[in-house]
Amino acid sequence: QWDYAPAPESREVANLKPQYHPFIGGEFVDGTGEPLKTLNPATEEVLAEVGTAGPADVDNAVKAARKAYDRVWGPMPGAERAKYVFRLARLLQERARELAVLETLDNGKPIKESRDADVPTAAAHFFYHAGWADKLDHAGLGPDPRPLGVAGQVIPWNFPLLMLAWKVAPALATGNTVVLKPAETTPLTALVFAEICQQAGLPPGVVNVLPGAGDVGAAVVDHPGVNKVAFTGSTEVGKQIQRTVAGTGKRLTLELGGKAANIVFDDAPLDQAVEGIVNGIFFNQGHVCCAGSRLLVQESIADEVLAKLRARVATLRLGDPLDKNTDIGAVNSAEQLARIRELADSGESEGAQRWTSPCPLPEKGYFFAPTVFSGVEQSMRIAREEIFGPVLSVLTFRTPDEAVAKANNTPYGLSAGVWTDKGSRILWMADKLRAGVVWANTFNRFDPAAPFGGYKESGFGREGGRTGLEAYLHVQG
Ligand code: NAD
Repeated sequence: QWDYAPAPESREVANLKPQYHPFIGGEFVDGTGEPLKTLNPATEEVLAEVGTAGPADVDNAVKAARKAYDRVWGPMPGAERAKYVFRLARLLQERARELAVLETLDNGKPIKESRDADVPTAAAHFFYHAGWADKLDHAGLGPDPRPLGVAGQVIPWNFPLLMLAWKVAPALATGNTVVLKPAETTPLTALVFAEICQQAGLPPGVVNVLPGAGDVGAAVVDHPGVNKVAFTGSTEVGKQIQRTVAGTGKRLTLELGGKAANIVFDDAPLDQAVEGIVNGIFFNQGHVCCAGSRLLVQESIADEVLAKLRARVATLRLGDPLDKNTDIGAVNSAEQLARIRELADSGESEGAQRWTSPCPLPEKGYFFAPTVFSGVEQSMRIAREEIFGPVLSVLTFRTPDEAVAKANNTPYGLSAGVWTDKGSRILWMADKLRAGVVWANTFNRFDPAAPFGGYKESGFGREGGRTGLEAYLHVQG
């Protein structure tokens, strides 16, 4: 049905190597941990073998980061640090195509997302923070802001390079050094970023990358040489980290799960709202912490919105993530697919109506068709638990007060969306919603200048914007 069908992106562009290694003190080293194999979730093929960090490697990485902090990076004038951060941004742009294809292979996300969203937004974070490095005295954060020291950073698999950028760019701009632990299913772009650090001439030890599973993350968090911990991932692991860090004096920021409400009023521009609902839940297969996974639609327009939504979702193309026309790629892992299936089945057994997009599924790979549940009650698991997949739960409301009560009826509070023609209602809703970000007549919009973070069990601290710098600085009065 397509007049124009561009050729699929070529996997050769990713420059895949058979083996990757931890990056410590400016060198790639043989990790002392058990190597892991990273898969292409769209084909279930092994992409590469990746050396992982053992306890001695974690110690070496923290020591390398400390040495680099004490001798080079901490004392360096901000204007000099800015040049390095700027160079990293430029190199991310220069290697954008390679990084986009590699991210798609390792994660399963459609190439048009890694190409148009993940990689350019990651570069934008480095550009934005390069601009702060020599202006911290004027950031209004207090007198004489100073770096904290060594930052231990642990990130998830849903936006591997972008989450790295959210963590590494502010840490470097503020004069901290980094020990980063990427997710076990998506370590590859972080290791190419390590190569980019070498290419940029970044002093050895300023950035260290330690692939491995949760035990490596736990060892980084627990290491006494780490001054600041930044974690993005599940609420369960976040709570564990909070307990580990308690009483150590380490600074902590947590970016955790979500169950965002996307709220559509009867005066909203409906076609635009339907696009926003689709983008809100089906972007990145729904593996988005701020995904609009609960649609709250005003009762009077619920049938019309549901009909338009199903018609639109039925046009989404699911399949080969390297195909430039693909809208829905592969779920990142067999474990995540099993979790999505289990929660979707619970929706059906608890009495919600399940509708599945009629798109065919490839024979191999971890795929899940876009799914919409209507008739959802607040007590159902699909209304309460984070599914982290392409599954939308639709609930209805009659009044703005009821919309607010339902939207806030969750332990999470990361984001929300409001669709209405009335500016006054947007402001009223934003005031009442307990969410770190409230989008109005749009969804999933990100800007490095805007602080992002949660209320309640979605975590604390903010990343991005001037506020995000606070997490990496002391002020001395
Ligand atoms: P996860 O918590 O299982 O893993 C995240 C990272 O933590 C991985 O690198 C993992 O290896 C590591 N880890 C696991 N156990 C650890 C431990 N005990 N100590 C230290 N590190 C440990 O989460 P996930 O399944 O990779 O990611 C999905 C979750 O991340 C979702 O809940 C999602 O909402 C959340 N997330 C939040 C944001 C945000 O900004 N708030 C952004 C993206 C994802």
